Amino acid sequence: MTLIPETFKMTATFDHPEFDHHEQVLFCSHKATGLKAIIAVHNTKLGPAIGGCRMWPYASADEALTDALRLSRGMTYKNALAGLAHGGGKSVIIADSHKDKNPALLRAFAQHVKCLADHYITAEDVGITKQDADIMGEIAPNVGGTSQKGLGDPSPYTALGVYHGIKAAAKHLYQAETLKGLRISVQGLGNVGYRLASHLHSEGAILTISDVYQPNLERAAEEFGAQTCAPEDAHAVDCDIFAPCALGAGLNAKTIPQIKANIVAGAANNQLKAASDGQLLHDHKILYAPDYVINAGGVIAVAEHGDGAKQRATDKTIAIGATLQEIFDKSANEDQPTGLIADLLAEERFS
Ligand code: NAD
Repeated sequence: MTLIPETFKMTATFDHPEFDHHEQVLFCSHKATGLKAIIAVHNTKLGPAIGGCRMWPYASADEALTDALRLSRGMTYKNALAGLAHGGGKSVIIADSHKDKNPALLRAFAQHVKCLADHYITAEDVGITKQDADIMGEIAPNVGGTSQKGLGDPSPYTALGVYHGIKAAAKHLYQAETLKGLRISVQGLGNVGYRLASHLHSEGAILTISDVYQPNLERAAEEFGAQTCAPEDAHAVDCDIFAPCALGAGLNAKTIPQIKANIVAGAANNQLKAASDGQLLHDHKILYAPDYVINAGGVIAVAEHGDGAKQRATDKTIAIGATLQEIFDKSANEDQPTGLIADLLAEERFS
């Protein structure tokens, strides 16, 4: 009898805790290249699913399936609230992008993507670059974010959406028409955080910035006349708005009681460590802009191509502010966390 190594045992998909009536889950392999991948299409009620491809050295097939099921479901919610005619999907390739990635592997994966041409559009995510998307795009027409198709780097759109989200939050809580004079702590001055800081500075906000990478910090401090703080203190800065634009899970039972700002609104993905942290923010009377709503500018840009793509992407990204306004109003009226209100609003749209 052959023993199955523990790492290859997998929970049956229909019984998986993250399974949420996903329409399709495709297990992809290719012997010659060693490809092992999973494509999950969660919901296509609003249109073909869109969501990037992640290359990650998952410790087990179960871990990869968990990520594909969870992330694809998240994309359904994100795309619905971004006003896109797209459902949610995501794909994962089980491989180390630094060691295992090669054109043959990407082409083998793209053959599987091509089979889902009417159902799923992929693009870059962790471990997959624009150059990789270009290679996949030679095989499959349903690859976005390539050099030929789309608007290129999505970060400027993500930053624009976060900026309008912050304005919506400031208007809701402080009845402020402008950010002039508001004190904002921006954590992470990378592709998105730097551009966001630039928008905020242009409008007269007073910035405190932090980054673990010194050159990014120094560039922004000089350009925006900003004060700096240690990255681990960014959430606790005495300010009006905290904008996390680095890593996830920064909002948790330890940090939330230390937050002095009345608003948390930033680009980082998966900001809440646990689902219950949304309630905790609400209990502390902190207005939280749900991450998947405020940072949707990137996927909006990836979904647009052809004539007028830039203008359409800009308009939809600016509209993130109005969507958040609706969420903030409902949250206040119903005394419920903003994340819960956002989920219900998304479900109304795609159910
Ligand atoms: P990036 O890698 O360009 O920038 C991240 C920055 O955060 C870097 O400067 C890094 O040094 C800094 N950083 C890392 N750890 C830190 C810490 N502990 N404290 C302070 N700074 C730290 O990434 P990005 O593209 O700007 O994305 C930022 C966040 O926004 C990520 O969570 C990402 O998932 C999310 N996001 C990005 C996009 C996009 O279009 N790029 C879209 C949606 C969501």
